[in-house]
Amino acid sequence: MTAYLDHAATTPMRPEAVEAMLPFLTERFGNPSGSHAVAREARKALDEAREIVADCLGARPGEVVFTGGGTEADNLAIVGRHAVRPGPVVCSAVEHHGVLHACQSLPEARVAPVRPDGVVDLDALAGLLDPSVSVVSVMLANNEVGTIEPLAEVAEVVRTAAPDAVLHTDAVQAFSWLDVADLTSAVDLVAVSAHKFGGPKGVGALVVRDSVAIEPIIHGGGQERDRRSGTYNVAGIVGMAAAMKAAVSTRADTVARVAALRDRLADGLLATVPDTSETGDRATKVAGNCHVTIEGVESEALLVLLDGAGVYAAAGSACTSGAVEPSHVLTAMAVPAARAMGALRLSLGATTIDADVDLALEVVPASVERLRSAEGR
Ligand code: PLP
Repeated sequence: MTAYLDHAATTPMRPEAVEAMLPFLTERFGNPSGSHAVAREARKALDEAREIVADCLGARPGEVVFTGGGTEADNLAIVGRHAVRPGPVVCSAVEHHGVLHACQSLPEARVAPVRPDGVVDLDALAGLLDPSVSVVSVMLANNEVGTIEPLAEVAEVVRTAAPDAVLHTDAVQAFSWLDVADLTSAVDLVAVSAHKFGGPKGVGALVVRDSVAIEPIIHGGGQERDRRSGTYNVAGIVGMAAAMKAAVSTRADTVARVAALRDRLADGLLATVPDTSETGDRATKVAGNCHVTIEGVESEALLVLLDGAGVYAAAGSACTSGAVEPSHVLTAMAVPAARAMGALRLSLGATTIDADVDLALEVVPASVERLRSAEGR
């Protein structure tokens, strides 16, 4: 028995995606940029995939730029827009490193604090904005603790305080759980990544509204209307479209089912593991996220025991130059470092079942107990 509870890291491929991709990995191998029949067949598949992706993201087909994943989409949005209109870039303190480090690669990055529940502090954000700001980036859902950010309110703040800035959102962790098309209707640039919702790794998309100009960050043959060069990953793009369609058509049922599993898991851990706190507020988190901090336990040691017992989870702390440091997300949420060192993220997905939760509820308390008794606590 094993329980894969690391869907925020990556998800298993949906059968629909695998099936859609297979012909493009075998006999339909054409390069869509060519002009003969084999190329045209690939072009047709690419165009169809683009329509599906656009529809699922509430965009027009021409607004979809295919990328090599979420990190590239985030970089293209921030660095690519900054190149058109330089100026300070602003992001929240809990962004994925794909956003945070892209912002910090530019001459001036300003970081907006979050409240203890992980939601961006709108007043503080407003205080960082002025008419010179180029890009504002606030994610839709956080990868570590699952917090959903109030994008409509963020958009309003940006419109008022930095009317010439564009708003980017990293919707990579949101797509499985939230109606991204609806929630990003006031957003200029939207990044997604296929492997977080049952598609293949290494493919994603950036919605670039027609009114927004960006410079490419990858130069070459001029694909994607010169916004992203490079031969198309046709199989990947087709797989992403199939996974998106399947995710959207089952989303409401999945969210309801997984939220119930997550609640049972989180409640069970709080009841059986002494000195455990839940991170964030379940009412403003995506359904698949269960995040706790366990006092006096080191995440890395716990993960080793969980792995040995077949429970696959994550911590969120980063190993920098040999020393384990608390995650920047928990630090921004003012979780004390000692608590943050005992972070445990169990992320559920569309394929999670009761037996996964049962196993985690058996293995996590026993593993914590083992670590604590080894420490003489
Ligand atoms: N943004 C968020 C919120 C993520 O969780 C991830 C992946 O973990 C990424 C961006 C990066 O996406 P990719 O793995 O496709 O580069």
